[in-house]
Amino acid sequence: MKLQTKILLGLLAGAAAGIAVNLTLGGDHPGVVAFNRYVASPVGQIFLRLLFMVVMPLVFASIALGVAGIGDIRKVGRIGGKTIGYFLITTVLSVTLGLAVCATIRPGSRVDASTRDGLLASYADEASSKIETSQQNEFGIETFVNIVTRNPIKSAVDGDMLGVIFFGLMFGAGITLIHEKRGKFLVEWLEGISEVVIKIVEMAMKLAPFGVAGLIFGVTSRFGFALFAPLAIYVAVVLGALLLHATVTMSLIVRFVIGMSPVLFFSRIREALITAFSTSSSGATLPTNIAVGEQNLGLPPKVAGFVYPLGATMCMHGTALFEGTTVIFLCEVFGKPLSLGQMAVVMVMCVITAVGAAGVPGGSIPLLVGVLAMFGVPAAGIAVILGVDRVLDMARTTVNVLGDHTAAAFIAKSEGLWTAADVPATFGMDRAGADDSPGWPADESTGGEKK
Ligand code: ASP
Repeated sequence: MKLQTKILLGLLAGAAAGIAVNLTLGGDHPGVVAFNRYVASPVGQIFLRLLFMVVMPLVFASIALGVAGIGDIRKVGRIGGKTIGYFLITTVLSVTLGLAVCATIRPGSRVDASTRDGLLASYADEASSKIETSQQNEFGIETFVNIVTRNPIKSAVDGDMLGVIFFGLMFGAGITLIHEKRGKFLVEWLEGISEVVIKIVEMAMKLAPFGVAGLIFGVTSRFGFALFAPLAIYVAVVLGALLLHATVTMSLIVRFVIGMSPVLFFSRIREALITAFSTSSSGATLPTNIAVGEQNLGLPPKVAGFVYPLGATMCMHGTALFEGTTVIFLCEVFGKPLSLGQMAVVMVMCVITAVGAAGVPGGSIPLLVGVLAMFGVPAAGIAVILGVDRVLDMARTTVNVLGDHTAAAFIAKSEGLWTAADVPATFGMDRAGADDSPGWPADESTGGEKK
């Protein structure tokens, strides 16, 4: 059975078992709690940790290699500008769609004051911790200054991906400027790191069917399905708009801009989409993205290594769409309807904050609190949606990751480095089990010595 199919089965089995257990025994049943604690959560966490383990070395090595591979620093600037331009334009498309759907259906008008106050009271504690994070991470000029990391090791330790990306960019640029012989040595060294990391990802992905099942079981078995009822229309609006963005906007881009069949495209990136869905983290999905992009789409490593890390933190279509719809929804719930001009401001703020959001579960919530405050919604108002946020997070992260793949394919195509004809006939990640490792053959040119 293909790895992709196994992962999908893991997802479905985990979700079905979790929902069944939740509806029959209840999420608080001691047996369910114990199963989560001793089986589902450890398996899910080990899978997640294996992915997180390689994120920082991979980001550094792949960005530095990407920049060194592009070679000319002006070219790096041009491709970087084009990449960010693509992120911004497609994010604007997604927020606009979300705002249009939400303004038409107006889910906020269907939540009465007593439901609102009940949700506010139930999630008050969780909301206050989000508000605290929001106050600590004010979004402003420092956000940009801080990208220029003072200490790349600290950035890696703190999970500050933008700092590591910046250091990788500088390192790669430096390589192009030093003596060719030493530059070549460094490139080989970085290639070695990134190959090893991809092998680790392949090993981790073997665990994915179980890890994904464990993660999804943990969410569904504990989920308050009863909560869905009052917010059902809001949840349906967010999920529906995300689905529209993925199946219409993105598919049109894949078909007409990238020149590939959307069905083939989606099937090639399925492992990455499922990883995003079950982990709710673009950061955790980054290693899988790079492996899938290079092996299943056949993208050149210098493009994949450059675009995916940037995308993991900056390309968040799903997050921006979610933020836009949530702002309109909560403004209505709190009786602060928005004018058309204010909606334009919402759009701009959502695009900016989606770029700034961390690719971790719930990474956008603190920024969303800040945007809500701009429109007079009390910070504590975020409590209204916290109960359903995990499900929305899974869906929006999947769309975020989809955006990363379209961006990488778009850049590779527009630079003349790749076309749909380069997509390999067989699935690379599925071939991962076959022994395609270089090994240590007796190499005549080196007399059989290890290099
Ligand atoms: N979980 C999202 C991601 O990692 C970020 C967010 O919207 O909270 O892409």
